[in-house]
Amino acid sequence: MRAMRFEGVGRPLRATEIPVPEPGPGQLLLRVHACGVCRTDLHLLDGEVAIADPPRVLGHQIVGTVERGPRAGSRVGVPWLGWTCGECEFCLRGLENLCPKARFTGCDIDGGFAEYAVADERYCFPLPDGFTDTQAAPLLCAGLIGFRALRMCGDAPRLGLYGFGSAAHILTQVAIAQGRRVFAFTRPGDTVAQDFARELGAVWAGGSDEQPPEELDAAIIFAPIGDLVPAALRASARGAVVVCGGIHMSDIPAFPYELLWEERSVRSVANLTRQDAREFLPVAAEVPVHTSITTYPLERAQDALDDLRAGRFSGAAVLVP
Ligand SMILES: [Zn+2]
Ligand SMILES: [Zn+2]
Repeated sequence: MRAMRFEGVGRPLRATEIPVPEPGPGQLLLRVHACGVCRTDLHLLDGEVAIADPPRVLGHQIVGTVERGPRAGSRVGVPWLGWTCGECEFCLRGLENLCPKARFTGCDIDGGFAEYAVADERYCFPLPDGFTDTQAAPLLCAGLIGFRALRMCGDAPRLGLYGFGSAAHILTQVAIAQGRRVFAFTRPGDTVAQDFARELGAVWAGGSDEQPPEELDAAIIFAPIGDLVPAALRASARGAVVVCGGIHMSDIPAFPYELLWEERSVRSVANLTRQDAREFLPVAAEVPVHTSITTYPLERAQDALDDLRAGRFSGAAVLVP
């Protein structure tokens, strides 16, 4: 099969021909129809998040049909969380996202930048019918982890989103359906992204260096830039939470305590649980979320990643094998 593989930090993905993987016990063989591209893939390429055992097929937002195994013929989605131990204190407490032995799709396990993939059946989810394969793909990381981050915001009515990419464009639609007001922060001067945010219903959009017209009750930072933490605190009301939604971020600069005072808090969100998927996918169908996608053929995976880095598309990039 054709696959785009990571072979080492700082090197572009390489187009290869490798054998179709054999499903082990409890695994499904999937024919991949679409696989979303995520900012985490850039962190993997850059070595900011380590791949322990290269070469590795990246891709952790897989939409495919089951070729072999139970559920043959059905459509499923495969997210970042690929396996957990099920017996550690975190798994037993419903925090499998924090399992120290967790294995992640497209990082510890070969992912979906290929024609076929295998996945543990317990971590595959049926997808709502209203989404095409390519439209469903971004729900599996951007949507799911974004939704987990949104839940950390409690009932905050005024929500700031820093970095208006794949996750933010999905969350904006969910947050508005929940009755929240969304304030979108983009790279300074990125009027295309700001217009995109307003089209989706954001009440305000501006550069991340700007103060919003109202204080925020919560903010989620998707851009991997530590300077945004004090910036978001500065834009926040008493009691606000600032959630860091990415897997990697540049260093957070020192800031005066008064930015945190009055019960503001800063926290991160890591990975996802299967329960997040069970809760989010029906919500996405009900809203209904419309994902804005740019598709690339599998062989152009590196172009998709380069375009993501440069902010050359709105919404999400999806590979089609
Ligand atoms: Zn991701
Ligand atoms: Zn565990």
